[in-house]
Amino acid sequence: MTTPDQSTAAPAPASAHGRLVVAVDGPSGSGKSSVCRAAARRLSAEYLDTGAMYRAATWYCLDTGVDFSDESAVAVAVEETPLSISTDPDHQKVWVGEADVTEAIRESRISEAVSEVATNRQARSVLIAEQRRLIDAAGFVIAEGRDITTVVAPDAQVRVLLTASAEARLARRGAELGGGQSAQSLQRQVIERDARDSAAANFTEAADGVAVLDSSHLSFEETVNSLVARIESVD
Ligand code: C5P
Repeated sequence: MTTPDQSTAAPAPASAHGRLVVAVDGPSGSGKSSVCRAAARRLSAEYLDTGAMYRAATWYCLDTGVDFSDESAVAVAVEETPLSISTDPDHQKVWVGEADVTEAIRESRISEAVSEVATNRQARSVLIAEQRRLIDAAGFVIAEGRDITTVVAPDAQVRVLLTASAEARLARRGAELGGGQSAQSLQRQVIERDARDSAAANFTEAADGVAVLDSSHLSFEETVNSLVARIESVD
């Protein structure tokens, strides 16, 4: 993975917490991106969306026409992806080279192909190394994904698995995509993608020391409040 100059994230916000890493994992549609971004804003922390990195690498693979059935070619493409990501929760931007792919990586074609990158062991280790570098560079950061509590930052001071029922997750992802998606497409982007992704990371059960936050019956605000309270309770 190459990291061009523009990768420089916003300067680490001042924090009363000093160096503090918060790791949050969860399945698709659990609301982890919006919950973590809101908590980071409230606490003046940085925010790292690791799913966006997998998506950007997938965008690059599609853009360069890499054959997804060729594992080594996928790994090489991910290695050479000129990825930059901002960790400022108020200005979430993702670039591949000069291209601002912030919107493009949310398209269904990316959601449907991203597991090809996520289940590639070599590609994962490239992305994990870059995620650790970004977390280390931040003073106070909330990082979210599928394997942050277990692989990327198992020594984070706060480790949370954010879950929600399948019904709640389908409804949330549908609303996020503007409500125009068919039930079949949502099923592919949420349930089937999780089934594929679980080959690469275990995000359905909390590992030892990881707290479960079930948001099925919580409002967005209540979920953010609960995460913030856990972070604030760290000495
Ligand atoms: O969180 P989001 O749905 O944007 O993640 C996109 C994809 O990136 C997931 O479906 C999964 O394949 C992959 N991913 C991963 N490990 C992470 C974060 C995301 O494998 N830590």
